[in-house]
Amino acid sequence: MARSEAAPALTLIPADDARRILADTPPVGNERVTIGDALGRVLAAPFRAPADLPGERRAVMDGYAVRGADVRGASALSPVVLTVTGTVPMGDVFPRGVGAAEAVAIATGGFIPEGADAVVMVEHTAALEGGARVEISRAVSKGANVVERGEDLARGAAVLPSGRRLRPQDLAMLATFGVTTVDVHRRPRVAVLSTGNELCDPGQTPRPGQVRDANQTALGAQVTAAGCDVTYGGIIPDDAYTLRRAIARLLDQQDAVILSGGSSIGTKDVSADALADLAPPGVLFHGIDIRPGKPTLFARAGSKPVVGMPGFPTSSLIVFDAFIRPMLWRLGGEAARDPWPARRAARIAREHRSVVGREDYLRVRVVEREGALWADPLPGGSATLSNVVYADGLVRVDAAVPGLAAGDPVDVLLY
Ligand code: AMP
Ligand code: MG
Repeated sequence: MARSEAAPALTLIPADDARRILADTPPVGNERVTIGDALGRVLAAPFRAPADLPGERRAVMDGYAVRGADVRGASALSPVVLTVTGTVPMGDVFPRGVGAAEAVAIATGGFIPEGADAVVMVEHTAALEGGARVEISRAVSKGANVVERGEDLARGAAVLPSGRRLRPQDLAMLATFGVTTVDVHRRPRVAVLSTGNELCDPGQTPRPGQVRDANQTALGAQVTAAGCDVTYGGIIPDDAYTLRRAIARLLDQQDAVILSGGSSIGTKDVSADALADLAPPGVLFHGIDIRPGKPTLFARAGSKPVVGMPGFPTSSLIVFDAFIRPMLWRLGGEAARDPWPARRAARIAREHRSVVGREDYLRVRVVEREGALWADPLPGGSATLSNVVYADGLVRVDAAVPGLAAGDPVDVLLY
């Protein structure tokens, strides 16, 4: 958008439209890492079971491997006595089969010898004659206490989809199959910077009229928590030319740039100007119908997202969690997922008036009162930082909802 065409007011788009545009972000490329370095990385290709798991029948209890048919009638009152022909060595196989009226001692995880089809738990047995024979006091049926070959996973089964952020259990599965390196998406490199003539570094004492830059620190932490590598671009004055140069320099090295402040349309709001001549597609929206955080800007220079965050720290924090974090997950190759996996059902403690079309985010504390869970909205608007600090989470008031009445059920999106 050229400067002369700039609209006098922000053109707000619905939150759902913004989510759709942000979700279109293409992922960064791949690299190969060892499974020891793969926690939290995003799988770049689906993983299928390369073999049956387990590869052999194994015992899941300590006891005796037997033929189920031999002990079908066993009970405490009429135990069955079997001949013990040996012990399955751990880490090796029993060299012989198990014949009729025979039993082989076995430990959890031991490979079931040929001929046996069940394991009697050691608790239901008594060794006789120094272990040469064993008394079985409980019937087991075929397959009892045995995990069959391929019972866990059959060869070729879909195990981990592409776009999965790897968890410890996923790594256990890869290790089990002997897969020691995996193709994952690169960690996106994301630069954050602050704009504003009034800002000074957190380590400085502000002069009259100055405030300390909180957003660079907050955004850096949020970007890191979203699985990206952060670079700090510093504090840039409210000057479109300087800002444009800073963004261009960062885009050279980075996969995305997030700037805070100056994202509205005041005379000192130069972010939109600075993004006006990015490589196509350029600015994709300027303004979302939300509260807080309406002046949010989103552009892409080719495949690289450039975000203009609202300046108020509270607005920036909330817009990041609600909109930008899922976008960075996509940039990092992650498949679509619920941006708020941790929720708590509660009742809103106070009435909240919204307007149809606008999506609101209330900062709430979750409190138990009279046997119920209540979401207490915290006072203060975007200019208040303490409310996000005191908050246990957010309550989203959907665009279609005109407001909430005290006592209405809500989901608290937990921090
Ligand atoms: P702006 O979006 O630039 O108009 O800023 C809105 C408000 O947020 C103003 O009061 C700014 O001083 C404040 N603000 C902007 N950027 C930051 C920042 N990085 N840290 C703290 N406050 C900021
Ligand atoms: Mg500003």
